[in-house]
Amino acid sequence: MAVSTCVNCNGHSFEVVLFTPIGDSRKLSMVQCSNCGTPIGMMDPATGPQIEALKAQVAAIDERLSRIARALQD
Ligand SMILES: [Zn+2]
Repeated sequence: MAVSTCVNCNGHSFEVVLFTPIGDSRKLSMVQCSNCGTPIGMMDPATGPQIEALKAQVAAIDERLSRIARALQD
């Protein structure tokens, strides 16, 4: 696997920090270079619950499709 390199200082270690954007009340997780603090990427904490909700919806659709398939076979 390739090693991620900081574009600013060529460092190879990164950390996740919590910060609150100006004008916002929720904390966001940001990946930054642990050496110079250059931001590398964002991790939206809302993504996890949204994915869980989608998984539940897909499971419900799957259940309904199974019921339709069983009804068609009868
Ligand atoms: Zn850096």
